Amino acid sequence: MRILVSGGAGFIGSAVIRYLIKNTNCEVANVDKLTYAGNLESLASESDSARYHFYQVDICDGVALDAVFAEFKPTAVVHLAAESHVDRSIDGPSEFIQTNIVGTYSLLEATRRYWSGLPAEAKSAFRFHHISTDEVYGDLEGTDDLFTETTPYAPSSPYSASKASSDHLVRAWQRTYGLPVLVTNCSNNYGPYHFPEKLVPHVILNALAGKPLPVYGDGSQIRDWLYVEDHARALVEVVSKGQVGETYNIGGHNEKRNLEVVETICALLDELVPLEARSYKELITFVKDRPGHDRRYAIDASKIERELGWVPQETFETGLRKTVQWYLDNREWWQRVLSGEYQLGRLGGD
Ligand code: NAD
Repeated sequence: MRILVSGGAGFIGSAVIRYLIKNTNCEVANVDKLTYAGNLESLASESDSARYHFYQVDICDGVALDAVFAEFKPTAVVHLAAESHVDRSIDGPSEFIQTNIVGTYSLLEATRRYWSGLPAEAKSAFRFHHISTDEVYGDLEGTDDLFTETTPYAPSSPYSASKASSDHLVRAWQRTYGLPVLVTNCSNNYGPYHFPEKLVPHVILNALAGKPLPVYGDGSQIRDWLYVEDHARALVEVVSKGQVGETYNIGGHNEKRNLEVVETICALLDELVPLEARSYKELITFVKDRPGHDRRYAIDASKIERELGWVPQETFETGLRKTVQWYLDNREWWQRVLSGEYQLGRLGGD
């Protein structure tokens, strides 16, 4: 396969590219605008591979996308490029509408222009795989309910509403134009190379710096957590074996309260880099809750398990331990993110 990955310099996209270069013979094109969330240092070893190609392109730019399609000639698109941080979407929704909705539209149209001109066999083998989130389903009321692929959409934040819109566009492009699409909706990811604004790395790095560990409200919001490398493997399974037109929910069977996540990180740090006579838990600080904050998300991932044989390899305990250890072992990566140095190369600096 020749896979065009949009958003390949981000947290999940870079995990997908690392997986593809290491475990398959695929040619990979990384199409990324390099916003603040894009970091080519997450692909330091992959960028030496002759099978890796990088295009600094905004997915809203149809002309630039046409040139990438013409040159790279993909057999599949794996679409991850997005604005992804809920808090930022509340402070400024505009970029979310632009990239997540208009950008997805623009990528769908560039794909359709290219795909329409393919010979019949290549046309039917082609795939457009859209990566979405469980947040499109909104808040779960019952404590035992799970999101399935047929749960109605009820997004709560500008982020999840923009993702929901993009999911609808992708499905409409199949129904109307016959584009062979796949959609996956995944729960919260965590793992190596995660941008420090997100909960897990934020807590690890604040703890190491002796700073407060902010927890929204009373910390009782429940999320289902999946180790990012399990997600990357699931995405490769779906794009290579998934049924066209189908949606697959992806989750880790790891429902945890936010406070529990923070406390588990503290316990791991207490074990791995202990403080003298106190616990990292003493840094936990409760802060005003996020507006519109959903209480509970939980995924039923039985369809992808049954139909494609995918199951997560990491439990929350093993995955979180690996993650904390990775941040301890890779200080240079996150120190360059915190200092802004990771952006210097792209600005022409040194
Ligand atoms: P991220 O913010 O880490 O990375 C996004 C990437 O997209 C960055 O490299 C950025 O430079 C790029 N990008 C942004 N706007 C662009 C544009 N206009 N043109 C080209 N590139 C652009 O995000 P992530 O956490 O890796 O998430 C990837 C995808 O997975 C998103 O679509 C997100 O909605 C979805 N998702 C994320 C999670 C999660 O827990 N992180 C869970 C489920 C689904």
